[in-house]
Amino acid sequence: MTQQSGCIFCRIVAGEIPGDIVYRDAEIAAFRDIHPLAPIHILIVPTQHIASLNEVPEGQQSLLGRLVFVARRLAEKEKAASGYRVVINTGREGGQVVPHLHLHLLAGRRLDDELG
Ligand code: AMP
Repeated sequence: MTQQSGCIFCRIVAGEIPGDIVYRDAEIAAFRDIHPLAPIHILIVPTQHIASLNEVPEGQQSLLGRLVFVARRLAEKEKAASGYRVVINTGREGGQVVPHLHLHLLAGRRLDDELG
């Protein structure tokens, strides 16, 4: 696992700071967002440090599929499979604040009005 010191999501994955972890395997971890925008708001992250979608190496495209599939499985587990949203904010203008690739899984309320 490649960590970046000072990265808040690397530190949650490593157990150095608390996180409400709901899923973990060798490549992926998921934990609840500390400022939820919906009743279900889970962040799905690679355990290795990748700064954003733009930094995913060409040879690791399958990781993106796995991240999305974990989001789907978590939506099922949270009994939200009938309606949910998966978002990847990328870059400052894209609304990305934490520079460690993450998918937002949002569910538990109507999400048809706004993006994000
Ligand atoms: P983004 O704007 O896409 O970079 O989203 C970053 C998300 O990380 C925001 O929704 C924050 O609420 C969330 N966040 C920041 N710090 C923590 C933390 N320590 N534990 C859980 N979620 C966090």
